[in-house]
Amino acid sequence: MKGLVVLPVLRETLRARVCSICINGNADGTCGVYARHDCALFENIPRVAETVSRIGGASVTEYTTALRESICDQCFHQHLDGSCELRDLDRCALFRYLGEVIETMRLQA
Ligand code: SF4
Ligand code: SF4
Repeated sequence: MKGLVVLPVLRETLRARVCSICINGNADGTCGVYARHDCALFENIPRVAETVSRIGGASVTEYTTALRESICDQCFHQHLDGSCELRDLDRCALFRYLGEVIETMRLQA
């Protein structure tokens, strides 16, 4: 993965690929979740990119396990018992669109 210089590009690419299909997005392309700085994907782009780069080429299960450790364990949505309502409801954009996220980040690497 290239350095932080690619972050603006990565952010825009994720907006085009993920926000455009996200259930939390509005029809006009805006997102109320993002406006509240509450999107686990966009709040953690550098750490997600680092994790995807480190796990590179593994199965989705391995990506999921690694991201649960690197992102969920520090996310304020996760409870002390390790549960997360957004994850249970499949409303966390990071995991709901994990395939698109991984593909986008690997193409930027
Ligand atoms: S929740 Fe995140 S991924 Fe979904 S539209 Fe909002 S900013 Fe984009
Ligand atoms: S699944 Fe829950 S704890 Fe994990 S990143 Fe998403 S919102 Fe945060």
